[in-house]
Amino acid sequence: MRRTLIKSATIISMDDTLGDLRAGDVLVEGGRIIDVRPGIELGSGTAETDVIDGTGRIVIPGLINAHMHTWQTGLRGFAANWTLLEYFRRMHAGLATVFRPDDIYIATLVGALNQINCGTTTLVDWCHNNPTPDHTDAAVRGLIESGIRAAFFHGSPKPEPKPGEPHFSEIPHPRREVERLLTGPLADRNGLVTLGLAVLGPHYSTLDVAMHDFRLAREAGLIASMHQGGGPARTPGGWEKLIEAGLVGANVNIVHGNDLSDDLLQRLVDLGASFSVTPENEMIQGHGFPITGRLLKRGVRPTIGIDLESVLAGDLFSAARVALSMQRALDNAESRKASGTIPATTTIPAREALRWVTLEGARMLGRDSQIGSLTPGKLADLVVINASDLNLFPVHDPVATVVMQTSLANIEAVMIGGVWKKRNGRLLVDGLERKKEMLAQSGRRLVQEIERQGRAA
Ligand SMILES: [Zn+2]
Repeated sequence: MRRTLIKSATIISMDDTLGDLRAGDVLVEGGRIIDVRPGIELGSGTAETDVIDGTGRIVIPGLINAHMHTWQTGLRGFAANWTLLEYFRRMHAGLATVFRPDDIYIATLVGALNQINCGTTTLVDWCHNNPTPDHTDAAVRGLIESGIRAAFFHGSPKPEPKPGEPHFSEIPHPRREVERLLTGPLADRNGLVTLGLAVLGPHYSTLDVAMHDFRLAREAGLIASMHQGGGPARTPGGWEKLIEAGLVGANVNIVHGNDLSDDLLQRLVDLGASFSVTPENEMIQGHGFPITGRLLKRGVRPTIGIDLESVLAGDLFSAARVALSMQRALDNAESRKASGTIPATTTIPAREALRWVTLEGARMLGRDSQIGSLTPGKLADLVVINASDLNLFPVHDPVATVVMQTSLANIEAVMIGGVWKKRNGRLLVDGLERKKEMLAQSGRRLVQEIERQGRAA
């Protein structure tokens, strides 16, 4: 079996036992990390080992993007100046309705490839434009073809109802479609692409629907993820009812949550729910300030997502840095207000932010025994950063280099499950220019179609 040995790199393992190594080696075999330590000597079978010089490189675990609507990749930047209200009207009730399966496929494929390019090895693709099984299968096909590790969170579209049709908030998550996916394209629960549910939750659905959807997720052993916030709740008091029914636990993932009361937040934390912050989009579209610090105060950590490439960049290093900076700003402001001065030391060290986009994402997915750190036995998902680059050199504190200074330009190589997906700064994918052209055609068609229908504004 083919092995890969990265020699003499700076290793940020994100494994508390292993810590950081200033000149360490990583041995990969059969898709898994076999060993992480200085001076690994090769035994027999040396001829089958790719030995890579890691001098001047920093190796970190692959990043985990906890929330992205990858189906919007063909509309990059189109929604940059929309508030959340405009986004609901123009994207969900507008552009989303003219997507064909091919639009979903190419957006998901190219969006996922860009995630790999940016150092993401696990993507939570929160896909809520599934009007037909063909759309769903197209998204799954795009994810599989990209080679990324993904959690496909299946959700429902949110159009304005036509006369006689129910509002989306009244439509239970389609059980038959979940069963179809679990016995068909996503049957392998240990496969590269697995299933989760992108449900409406009490903020966007009736109580009956929320109860149904939470039960469905529980029965199927799946994560139930939902947006929380952005205008008034469809079911005020819904969370309390779901908690009373015993339906809130570690499989519940709350996206945003900025407006949750302190009491309710504490109850959700106590029940083990996970939280996903999408810092830049939350600030841009009007969600309020990210919940990061309120979680940290309660002893839990956020996961971080991109949310929308129709609004902002897909690079998770930036998102982690924005989350960290935003929370430091809030903490500094609180300190100045309370005591008239800034805190004596920083309230959040940079390493925290790296943890949010690695281990915490793994924990949210219930996969922290498999991904999220460079631990022997885990799947070999890793990123190699060229720390000799002009913008990173000299490195005094490798964690600071990664969190505060690394950009896409510095991501030299990306490995998923022991297979290189990017080497020497280039994605290892065939026909990328053709895929880009298909994405551009799709984006143009979507915009022209919505304009033709007179529903662009
Ligand atoms: Zn979202």
